[in-house]
This record gives sequence, C-alpha cells and structure tokens, in this order.
Amino acid sequence: MDETTRNSAPRPFPEDWQRALAVVAHPDDLEFGVSSAIHRWTSQGKDVVELLVTKGEAGIDSLDPGACAPVRMAEQHASAEAVGAGTVEFLAFPDGMLEYGLPLRRALAEAIRRHRPDVIVSINFREHFAGGGGFNHADHRVLGPALLDAVRDAANRWVFPEQPAEGNRPWSEVRMVAFGAAPESTHYVELSEENLAAGIASLDAHEVYLADLDGFDQKTFLREGAVRAGERAGVALATSFEVFEV
Ligand SMILES: [Zn+2]
Repeated sequence: MDETTRNSAPRPFPEDWQRALAVVAHPDDLEFGVSSAIHRWTSQGKDVVELLVTKGEAGIDSLDPGACAPVRMAEQHASAEAVGAGTVEFLAFPDGMLEYGLPLRRALAEAIRRHRPDVIVSINFREHFAGGGGFNHADHRVLGPALLDAVRDAANRWVFPEQPAEGNRPWSEVRMVAFGAAPESTHYVELSEENLAAGIASLDAHEVYLADLDGFDQKTFLREGAVRAGERAGVALATSFEVFEV
C-alpha cells in the first residue's frame, strides 16, 4: 500500500468507480465535510453504504448511553438520506472505548467482503485535523489503521477464514481508502452549491447532538471549510482527502 505524494497540490479524486463504503466511528463523523462529497457521488448514480462502528452512545453529555444510542442512530439515518446514501449499518463497538485489535479488524473485513466496495472513505485518523485543533479522538485514531489493515485482511482468504465459509468471499478490489479532514490531503472532490447544501442538511440532521454543542454554527463551519479546500485545489468549493492507494 503506497501513500501518494504529499505536500503538493491536491489532485482530483478519481470517479471511475461504482461502490463506496463509508466507515466511521460515530454518527456525525461523516457530516463534518465528507458527506458533501457523498452527495456528489450519489448524484452521479454511485452507491454509498454508511457503516458506523459505534452507535455514538457516549456522544451527548446530557443523555445517558441507553437513551442516546437510538437518538443518534435515527439522526444518522436522516443524515444519510440527506445525501442519498441508501444503507446505514451499525457495528455496536463501545463508543469512546474503541480498541485496535482482531475483533475490530474482523468486523471491518466482514463488512468489506460483504459490500465489495471499489472505494472506502472515512475521516482523519492522524493526531490532529487539518487546520490544527485539539488532539484527535481516540476512536478516530484507532479506526484509521484498523481500516487500512482490514482492507488487506479482506483480500486474504487465509485471514478470518471462517468468513468465506459463511458466504463472504475474499474481496481484493478496493482501489483507494480516503480519509477526510486530514492534515496532509492528497486529493480533492469539487463540490457544487447543491452538494454543499446537502452536506449542511446532513449535519443539520444531527439535531440533538448539535443542540448539545451550544452555539456551534455548522453552516459557516462547513462553508468555510469548503472554500479553504477549494482554494488549495483551484476551484470554488471542495472537500479534501488523504488517499491511500491499495
Ligand atoms: Zn467521531
């Protein structure tokens, strides 16, 4: 697996593919930029499945996890609908306590073998986000490497061999794994006003979650991010990715 060249102008993200699997730790992770690109792709007729590794039950301070999980799952379904992603699945690993290891790799490999994607998208797993900010969430830092490893696992019939027996044949056709909001992006996806509006609507769908953030202006946040990514790419609006070519 080679990382593409960094620190040069980002290149357009290839679009000669049909199926994407979007894999993130929490409801709301895709909606801070990536979902606008998902809207562009589903508008082109591509299929995008969203896979949430947790139910996000530890994400709202004022709600206990038992009450929180169904709220956040419902919000994610509404959010996926806003950008045309037809399927949303949840793996139910514990929110806030994700661990790198075989159980996580096994579950991710199973999903990759079952959905057989051409492209996998996720969010930044580096210590910091593009533009700085605080130390990245432990679940995000754990998921990225596990996901890259699971792509290789999914292709190897001798790894998690019980899965092919269950009908999930190995899958070795993943071409790229792309992480949004990474500090060193390699590729960009140009956004139309319509893509950005759908991306904003997908974040708006996380209504209870956003109410808990008190005063956060999601519209301005997403537009400014799209303008910044666009400036680097030489287009009006964009969202950027760190891409690993498989
Ligand atoms: Zn998250």
